[in-house]
Amino acid sequence: MSIQVVVGANWGDEGKGRMVDYLAQDADFVVRFQGGNNAGHTVVNEFGTFKLHLLPSGVFNPKVTNILGPGMVIDLQGLIEELDDLKGRGIEPNIRISDRATICFPFHRMEDGWEEERLGNKAYGSTRRGIAPAYGDRTVKKAIQVGELLYPERLRERLADIVAWKHIKAAGIYGKDKPFTLDEMVEWAENCAAKLGSLICDTSALLEEGAKQGKNILFEAQLGTLRDLNFGIYPYTTSSCALAAYAPIGGGLFGKPVDRVLAVVKAFSTCVGEGPFVTRMEETEANELREIAEEYGAATGRPRTIGHFDALATRYGVWAQGATEVAITKLDSISGRKSLKICTHYEFRGQKIDRFPLNAVLDEATPVYEEMPGWEEDIRGVRRFEDLPQTAQAYVKRIEELIDCPVRFVSVGPEREALIVRG
Ligand code: GDP
Ligand code: MG
Repeated sequence: MSIQVVVGANWGDEGKGRMVDYLAQDADFVVRFQGGNNAGHTVVNEFGTFKLHLLPSGVFNPKVTNILGPGMVIDLQGLIEELDDLKGRGIEPNIRISDRATICFPFHRMEDGWEEERLGNKAYGSTRRGIAPAYGDRTVKKAIQVGELLYPERLRERLADIVAWKHIKAAGIYGKDKPFTLDEMVEWAENCAAKLGSLICDTSALLEEGAKQGKNILFEAQLGTLRDLNFGIYPYTTSSCALAAYAPIGGGLFGKPVDRVLAVVKAFSTCVGEGPFVTRMEETEANELREIAEEYGAATGRPRTIGHFDALATRYGVWAQGATEVAITKLDSISGRKSLKICTHYEFRGQKIDRFPLNAVLDEATPVYEEMPGWEEDIRGVRRFEDLPQTAQAYVKRIEELIDCPVRFVSVGPEREALIVRG
């Protein structure tokens, strides 16, 4: 039996999906423990190329039970569409939905959009999928749990109170007069329940039983450390906890220690959405790398901001995850560069900063780089670390040293098998 967590150590989009798809080959359960359909996890395998938003990245292994955990907020309509899409492509995933997850309603999406518009040039860069309003409602106890779909009378009663409260907010803050009705929301929920009802259960009971039988359990995070609600670049974070320490809560498995935490790290830095980003590349160089590396958001198609490898941010990212090992992805994307810059620390008002600070400092911090030679070779076919060009090996080893965690995997392409596993 093993319990493993896969998380991101950067700003998200590190390649968690591809790592989970690979590791799911040995898993019995894959559990998404936070986030909603603002995620975009790309998986490339023998079945094709997929962008997963709510579904765990273990869905391509028929042996795996995929769980949408209690820590998630779930847009039920989005889930139905995602499932239909997979079925249309010949994949029949085995999934279960936690009865304790929070429902993300159409009014959450609306609120998300209104708030971004109200903020104007101070917007958070939200994906406008309703994630912050849904988590906010969970915290102030105005949300509906997925399992409540199975009790329609009670659901209508609870929704009536919530819709009345939402109408007051919509009018008072955004000047919207009853932009949706209770009947519309009840109908939406009932239609979704008709399609998803049989998948809803107490998923913790399944996991507990699985753990007793010695099954392998893999938890999957949605975003990276730097977008974590508590330890990220607040308020330009997501609204939930993206750290491995939260996996047992958001996944719903207790009393069983986590054996391994794999933090996924990209060989250069990218971020999508707003917030400070110290190692931003100069524009021409960034545009070039964005095209080579296809750095566009998987959920929104937004161009990602590109930067040099930020060892300070990543060391913090890895530390906050309690990572036992690291996967470096997209090493192939930086082939063909004369030299590579690694940011070892920042400077702020003449002072050396060697621990990732708050935004107040980040906004003014400047990066200090060391430079390493690059490599010309196409490394996409390499499967043994020793077969990488010496300079590529040196780059990975230097990162390993700076982030203070062993690099166990080096990914050299988006496909499941394009992976170097170190002993
Ligand atoms: P996630 O949100 O952490 O799962 O990552 P995304 O899927 O949003 O972004 C990672 C992107 O990089 C996807 O387009 C992947 O297909 C791609 N990718 C992952 N690993 C590699 C790699 O080693 N090389 C290349 N070229 N692409 C990769
Ligand atoms: Mg992504």
